[in-house]
Amino acid sequence: MKIRVGMGFDVHQLEEGRDFWLGGIKLESAKGAVGHSDADVLIHALCDALLGAANLRDIGFHFSNKDERWRGKDSKFFLQEVTRLLAEKGWKIENADCTLCLENPKINPHIPEMKRVLAPLMNVTEEEISIKATTNETLGYVGREEGVNAYAVALISKPDAL
Ligand code: MG
Repeated sequence: MKIRVGMGFDVHQLEEGRDFWLGGIKLESAKGAVGHSDADVLIHALCDALLGAANLRDIGFHFSNKDERWRGKDSKFFLQEVTRLLAEKGWKIENADCTLCLENPKINPHIPEMKRVLAPLMNVTEEEISIKATTNETLGYVGREEGVNAYAVALISKPDAL
């Protein structure tokens, strides 16, 4: 059995009056993330963790922010595509662990729904996805609510024969 780990990081700016897509769901928030796609920082970090584990480059390589096809795109599509790319190479997703870093809104009440939305896109059960959230203790750009950070690690496996 081959086992590989990957890590991902993403950051997006926050701006008043934008939709805030996070973990595949839309949050009630005065500010939302700015980006070429729907700017879902959690899904982007997760995609990079999975691609990194499989040594398949990164999300920008597969879904360039210069490509008009991806303007305003629902990031759930990217996660589904990344899962498909990994499956093509024989990789099975074992688990993922994510950390969000932002001051507002509070994320904990939304974590069960995020897991429900993300699990089927990754062909795993909710048990295999962990999502955690922390503030940045008001420090730096995250603390000033100018941006949101997401970190993810993922473990994947395949039989030696593949
Ligand atoms: Mg991004």
